[in-house]
Amino acid sequence: MQKVSFFKSIHVKLVFIYILLIIIALQIIGLYFSRELEQNLKDSFQQSIIQRIDLVQYSIREEILKERDDTTMATLETSLGIILQEFSTGDIKEIRVIDHRNRILATSDSNNQSLVGQKSNEDIIRTAISSQTPSEKIALDPENRNRVWALATPILDTVGPDGEVIGAIYIESDIEKIFVQLNEINRIFAAGTAMSLIITIILGILVARTITRPISDMRRQAQAMSKGNFSRKVRVYGTDEIGQLAIAFNNLTNRLQESQSTTEAERRKLASVLSNMTDGVIATDRKGRIILINDPAMSMLHVTRETTLNRPIASVLGIDQDYSFEDLIYMKEPMNLNFSTSDVPYILRANFSVIQKETGFVNGLITVLHDITEQEKIDMERREFVANVSHELRTPLTTMRSYLEALADGAWQDENIAPHFLNVTQTETERMIRLVNDLLQLSKMDSQEYELDCEFVEFNKFFERIIERFEMSKSQNVEFIRLLPETSYFVEVDTDKLTQVIDNIISNALKYSPDGGNIRFGFTVHDNMLKVMISDDGMGIPKENVGRIFDRFYRVDRARARSMGGTGLGLAIAREMIEAHGGKIWAESEEGIGTTVFFTLPYELDEAGDWE
Ligand code: ADP
Repeated sequence: MQKVSFFKSIHVKLVFIYILLIIIALQIIGLYFSRELEQNLKDSFQQSIIQRIDLVQYSIREEILKERDDTTMATLETSLGIILQEFSTGDIKEIRVIDHRNRILATSDSNNQSLVGQKSNEDIIRTAISSQTPSEKIALDPENRNRVWALATPILDTVGPDGEVIGAIYIESDIEKIFVQLNEINRIFAAGTAMSLIITIILGILVARTITRPISDMRRQAQAMSKGNFSRKVRVYGTDEIGQLAIAFNNLTNRLQESQSTTEAERRKLASVLSNMTDGVIATDRKGRIILINDPAMSMLHVTRETTLNRPIASVLGIDQDYSFEDLIYMKEPMNLNFSTSDVPYILRANFSVIQKETGFVNGLITVLHDITEQEKIDMERREFVANVSHELRTPLTTMRSYLEALADGAWQDENIAPHFLNVTQTETERMIRLVNDLLQLSKMDSQEYELDCEFVEFNKFFERIIERFEMSKSQNVEFIRLLPETSYFVEVDTDKLTQVIDNIISNALKYSPDGGNIRFGFTVHDNMLKVMISDDGMGIPKENVGRIFDRFYRVDRARARSMGGTGLGLAIAREMIEAHGGKIWAESEEGIGTTVFFTLPYELDEAGDWE
């Protein structure tokens, strides 16, 4: 979160507001107070001057109205000068008497007696004489720049309003001391203002802090919460609005913490469900872009989260050529995605379900992927197996039908043909019985109830007995070569089943051995395993087919193998049996040189002693 700059903080703003309010209040009070005070002081000053003028006016009028001739004129000026001298005291700077023709009759200023007899040029005197009312002004003393209040009062010949103007009294009084007094008061006021401002600032800081501290606390807590720390609590300083806010804030923190931990738990649950399920899950937003993909889905599609997130689902599934996102939304049936190559089958089944609001608005799409390769393989094998079985049964049945038809048509009476025909049908019947028996055996092994009936046997002797049996009964010119070790080895096996396996391998070796060929028998021991080998000099098997000879019904050369009476199931049964014993079976072959079939069996070294 951004740091609040000093001048933008509420704390400073509040202090500024207090200061401004105080300044405004004091200014208004000060302005009103000083104006009133100034007016008051001026009024009382002027009043006292006017009262004194009223007093002197009487004497002056009397003096002017006295009957005088030109010689006595000087006496008027002298007597007026005496009156004014007496009068001019204290605040009064100068007082002059002017006659109605604007001539100065007397002045109280002894240094300025030359003015007497001259014409006065003061405006206010002229105004007072002409308007018969007092006139005043405030002027500056040119000597000391002090303010002077000048007042001109007309002198009437009678007391009362209808008298004739006989002159005027002009008075200059020193009003400056009032302004000095006012300045002194203003200075005191300014000092008071400064003091109250300082006090306001200190108090403002303290008061603002009580408001801003809980707010700062909440701000810090909100910052901590945004980083996921819910352990902090705001201190509650009181029960006022901010206190209530702090309590509400703490409650909010608790609720947020609870809901966050619930959400987190749900998220973890969902994530573990998604990653532990075997099916792949992909979720998209309403535009079909992937917003969630679980681990199984990534390994099924061989993609990473980084390369798939935000990409359109159709392109990630590799179906964007044929389907749009809208097509997938309306897809009700599961879709098979075939990623098989010529060697490896790989099929996924995709089920689509739409996340929809009640209004029908599509919020997204959930795709569940299921690997159905094995299932498909089993289905395919089953279909192949049924086709093979039907085919294997139809061939002898068709042969038998044609021979039996020939017999029914009269061949039964022919002594030369009839025994041969009957022989063929008998051979075919036997082959069918063998086939059905083999199938039954395979089906038993496929079912759960299949069990081995194991016993300990000395493998050397067991193997030797089987080889001997074949050696005695063989009709071909084939030599049997034994490469068996001297040491006795004991194995725990189902002897009937193992005999069947070895019989099948030896009869195959005999079947495909040329006249004068060799068949070699041997076994070696590796890592607790007996490795048995039966090798012939026969026609061999093409390289690409060697691995398949253990598949059901597989024959390299169908016609030839069938003519030799094989069912194509012998090695398939052998493989099931060896695997049931915990071993493995495989073949190595080279065309025209020979084939070697190997199989392994587990054995216990110390069993020999126990057995003996
Ligand atoms: P079959 O009953 O046809 O012999 P098997 O399952 O025993 O069926 O063998 C499957 C096929 O493997 C045979 O049809 C044959 O083509 C081939 N095969 C098995 N053993 C040998 C061998 N020793 N030499 C050459 N081909 C063999």
